[in-house]
This record gives sequence, C-alpha cells and structure tokens, in this order.
Amino acid sequence: MDHRGASLPDVRPGWVWLVGAGPGDPGLISLLGAHALAQADVVVYDALVSEGVLALAAKDARLEYAGKRGGKASAQQPDISRRLVQLAREGRRVVRLKGGDPFVFGRGGEEAQALVAAKVPFRVVPGITAGVGALAYAGIPTTHRDTNAAVTFVTGHGAGGDLPDGLDWEALARGSPVLVVYMAVKHLPTIAARLSEAGRDPATPVAIVSRGTLPDQRVLVTTLGRAAEDAAAAGLEPPAVVAIGEIVRLRAALDWLGAAEGRALEADPLGAHAPRRTG
Ligand code: SAH
Repeated sequence: MDHRGASLPDVRPGWVWLVGAGPGDPGLISLLGAHALAQADVVVYDALVSEGVLALAAKDARLEYAGKRGGKASAQQPDISRRLVQLAREGRRVVRLKGGDPFVFGRGGEEAQALVAAKVPFRVVPGITAGVGALAYAGIPTTHRDTNAAVTFVTGHGAGGDLPDGLDWEALARGSPVLVVYMAVKHLPTIAARLSEAGRDPATPVAIVSRGTLPDQRVLVTTLGRAAEDAAAAGLEPPAVVAIGEIVRLRAALDWLGAAEGRALEADPLGAHAPRRTG
C-alpha cells in the first residue's frame, strides 16, 4: 500500500504484528500501525489501548480483549501468547495491539519470544511510549540541554505486583538526573521515600501525568517530598507516568496544551536553576 508517499508492507495471513498504539490520542499511532489495523482479521488488544485507536481497525475485524489491568478480569500472559499462536496457525492476519510501545514495559518481548518458539512469523511496529508521549502533552521534554543529558525509565511494578527487585535506588537517586516512572501510582509513597532516603533532594520537582494525551489528561506538579500526599489528595487515576527532575520546571514554559486554552507561558522557567550553557 502507498500512504502519502510511504510504501507500507502488508500484513500477511499467518503473521502476527506486535503494534504499539501510542499513549492514547489516536493520532499518535504510526502510519504502519494504522495500516496494519486496517488490514487485520483479528486485533488482540490490551486495557490501555484507547477506543479511538481501536476505531482504526477494519469494520469486520474481530476485536479480542486481552486486558490485564490490576483488579479486572484478565487473561494470563501464557494464554495471550498461546492465543496469538493459535490465530496465526489458523491463517489469520493478527495484530497484537499494545499501549505505548510494545517493547517498553509491555511484555512485547515475552510475546515475541513465544512466537519465535512456535515458529510464527512476526513483525514489530514501535509506538510512542507513554513516558515520552504523555510528558510531551504535559509540555515536559524528556531531555533538555539545560537540565539532563540522560533519562532513566523505571517501572514501579515488578512481576509480582510489588516494587521490582533489584533496583538500585541509591544509584538511581544519585546518578540519574531525570527518572520517568511507569506504573508508579500505587507505589509512589515507597518510591518517593526510597529516593529521598538515598539522598535525592525532597524539593526535586515532580510531575504526575494521568491519562496522558487523552481528552481527560491531568497533570499534577509537586515535589518529591510531597508527591505521594498530593497525588492521593488529587485522586489521580492510573494510568499515569511520574517524571522526577529539573526537567519538570520546563512545563511552565512549554505547556502548549494549556497555552491553547489561555495559559500564559513563562519565558525562563529554569532561571537561576539553569546551569551555564557552554555550547
Ligand atoms: N508499553 C507501554 C507501557 C505499558 S505499562 C508504553 O510504552 O507506554 C503501563 C503503564 O504505562 C501505566 O501504568 C502508565 O505508567 C503508563 N501509561 C500508559 N498509557 C498512559 C497514559 N495515557 N498516560 C500516562 N501513563 C500511561
């Protein structure tokens, strides 16, 4: 297919495409992802996939829910992988649609491994991960020359639902100028406490972006010391990403969504905090 000059491969029968849906706004799925959705016989999707993205599927496509969100009835991971293999072997054109990017905290790697083991051909279509996309819609770049030359993506959820084992909080607190934490709402009190105990300044700015890029996106700006309390008081709902670091101050200048609704933007939100530029 030819789409605005891009030559796009077709989804072939018996193949599984692992497609990133992006964080929610349907406009943020890739051309290749939208193309695959329009061709799929079956779309196996997660709870985090927005209705707007699902609406891009062909009218006669079968939509199968494989949600696995805390509290709700959900398919188990091995069941999902088995289902993908089964559909492929039936000769369907299968799109496995996952929120954000399929290879970022989305178990896309596990599903792809199951396809490899079953000798099912597959393709991966990256998506805009929430840690980048939701922050962008909050007016927060993930990097900026004046604040950080590195960024660390962290998950607040290990395989068992608790904070993941094996995270070196001291190293994260000291070594990473910006942390972007996924699945953090539940464990935010512990995460904030660990980072503070490990020496991170409790005055460090924090932004929590809930339902990022969707019409009901909410953004809370607070500090590491107050984040847990403020998030609870604001009743912020998952899904949400948490950004920790000086980068959050840039929202005052770059909240383009707010500006469209009349918010005045500041010219120099880093002010005295900005390190002197040398390049
Ligand atoms: N593969 C996904 C992440 C799946 S883990 C990606 O690349 O984005 C699920 C977590 O993603 C949620 O707990 C939340 O931290 C984050 N997330 C997904 N969609 C989001 C959204 N619209 N706004 C904020 N966070 C989101």
